[in-house]
Amino acid sequence: MIMNILTFDIEEWYTYGTGSGTIDIKSSSRLEGYLDQLLNLLEHKKYLATFFVLGAIARSHPHILKKIANAGHQIGCHSDIHQWLTNFNRADFFKDTNKAIFSIEEIIGKKVVCYRAPAFSITEKNKWAFEVLHQFGIEYDCSIFPADRDFGGFPDILQDAPCIIEYNGIRIKELPIGVSKVLGKRIAYSGGGYFRLLPYFKIKKMILARDYNMTYFHLRDFDIEQSRKLNLRYFKNYYGINGSWNKFLKLLNDFEFVNIEAATKRIEWDNVPVVKI
Ligand SMILES: [Zn+2]
Repeated sequence: MIMNILTFDIEEWYTYGTGSGTIDIKSSSRLEGYLDQLLNLLEHKKYLATFFVLGAIARSHPHILKKIANAGHQIGCHSDIHQWLTNFNRADFFKDTNKAIFSIEEIIGKKVVCYRAPAFSITEKNKWAFEVLHQFGIEYDCSIFPADRDFGGFPDILQDAPCIIEYNGIRIKELPIGVSKVLGKRIAYSGGGYFRLLPYFKIKKMILARDYNMTYFHLRDFDIEQSRKLNLRYFKNYYGINGSWNKFLKLLNDFEFVNIEAATKRIEWDNVPVVKI
């Protein structure tokens, strides 16, 4: 069964880098720059997506969250302040998740059942995170990057298609990022830096080669006017930004997309691998 899933991580343009989750009060918000354009496009294409939102954004920009939810899109949780899980102990992760889910549910008036860790930062070292997510009623996790990554990644989980994660007696349905080999390295082609970096024909080929594709876009991936801080991640953060909206339009024209809610109804969960970690 072919399944292409459309997801966005809603965070500020300056939310990356160290993973400490610092809220940069000196930088102004650019969340609304591309949001309307994106929501209009999705409405026009009649696609529903899943938006992973920070708890901090639910508190600071409730109208944005309402706008997305009112358009019929599914809302998931992307932590509270985008602190990477690799920087948390279990108790602090519990607090962060509690705060985030409470803030989001208060605005949308609905139970949050999907989670994506900032920077896919669930790794071998913090797999207790699954127990915490389970405690909060998270049924679907999208935090696994099944390859090595500059920080974290979960290379032991070889599944890059839907599977069930079993840990310490609990089970969570996992919809990981798909990876493809480029120059011997397993990379995520379906969002973020590599989507901007790779030419469209290559991305299209990678998507066509697989039955399951999980995308992950950010508003900043399309935002050509954002201020461009020079830093070590400059290349990865900004390369290809000018063409990325057009690439995204082509992608939506060439493929059909569903959100996680629709995808999870189509997946035959009894027939997917159970991965014990
Ligand atoms: Zn993020």
